[in-house]
This record gives sequence, C-alpha cells and structure tokens, in this order.
Amino acid sequence: MARLVVITGPSGVGKGTLKRGLLSELSLPESISATTRLPRQGETDGTEYHFLTRVEFEQRRDSDDFLESAEYAGNLYGTLRSEVEARSDGAKAVVLEIETRGAEQIRDRDPDAILIFIAPPNSAELRKRLEGRGTDDPEQIAVRLAEAERELTLRDEFDTVIVNDDVARATAELVTQVRSRLD
Ligand code: 5GP
Repeated sequence: MARLVVITGPSGVGKGTLKRGLLSELSLPESISATTRLPRQGETDGTEYHFLTRVEFEQRRDSDDFLESAEYAGNLYGTLRSEVEARSDGAKAVVLEIETRGAEQIRDRDPDAILIFIAPPNSAELRKRLEGRGTDDPEQIAVRLAEAERELTLRDEFDTVIVNDDVARATAELVTQVRSRLD
C-alpha cells in the first residue's frame, strides 16, 4: 500500500479546495470515501463518495473493510481499504480528506502516515464559510459548528498545522510540506 497523506480539520475549513490543489500539483490519487450521508445536489455515487445505507456501511465495517471510520454529525464516514489499495499502484501516496476522529485512528495505526491539520484563521470565519457555501441547512450547520469546536481543540495532536487564511498561500504551503515529506 502507498503512503497515506491525511488532510484533516473541521468541516468548512476548506480542506477540499486545498486537497484539489495538492492532487493536481503533485499528481497524486485520492481515496473516495464511503458515507451514509445522503448525496447533496450534484453529487453522484462513486465520484464524491460511495453512498451506502447504514446497514451496508455497518456490514462492511464488521467485515473490517475500512482503514478508519467515524460517526460525524449523525452520519458514518469511512476510508475503504479497497479504495486505497486500488489507487496505490505506482503512486507515491494516496490522499485522504477526513474528519479528526478518523485521522486519529490513522495516526495511531500507521506511523508512516503524513497528517496535516487545516485550521481556520478564527471561528467566526469558519461559521461564515459553513453558512455561505449553502450546502447545509441551519440545523446541520449548528451540528457542524459544534463538531468544529471540538475538532479545533485537537490541532496540536497533528504533526503539521496549516492555517487557511488565503487559499493560494495555504495550498502552496500544503504542497511544500507534502513534497518534502515524500522525498
Ligand atoms: P461532508 O458531509 O461535508 O462531505 O463531510 C463531513 C466530514 O466528514 C468532513 O470533515 C469530511 O472531511 C469528513 N469525511 C469525509 N470522508 C471521510 C472518511 O472517509 N472518513 C472520515 N473519518 N471522515 C470523512
């Protein structure tokens, strides 16, 4: 299996945007996660996520199909071993974008994993982004902000913290960090 690059941090911090910059800059593959969350408008099965029912997810978890998995804001999310294995061939690393409980599981099980925590410049900015992106209803935003408060306290548990104060600057820092760790 290729090395894992784990991008973690609270929902709304911009992990996805920074990850896309990293993938294109270093030509790395990403693992498509599984989730029990319903698809948002425009999301399709197998592209953003493998969308599973809770029963399917739990069966696969019981069969040890996941490298890590966690409950987040009322839904289950997890990294399938088969995803990472399929994308490992010839790759220097496979990139995961996951919340902090899953990142802690990878950190505890895989000493070679490269863990990067993306932090917001401040909590007000995070709220603004969660509200502004229009993907979640007010109830979901409240749940995610509560999760974010918890996740923000964990930043020092990860080797590297990048503050997403400016997308171009933070992406460049992410690329530099990962490149130097992979060389
Ligand atoms: P969303 O519902 O906004 O797509 O994702 C919610 C949170 O779950 C985000 O922080 C996202 O990074 C995280 N997430 C996505 N895939 C996985 C996964 O495979 N495992 C874990 N632990 N978290 C994930």
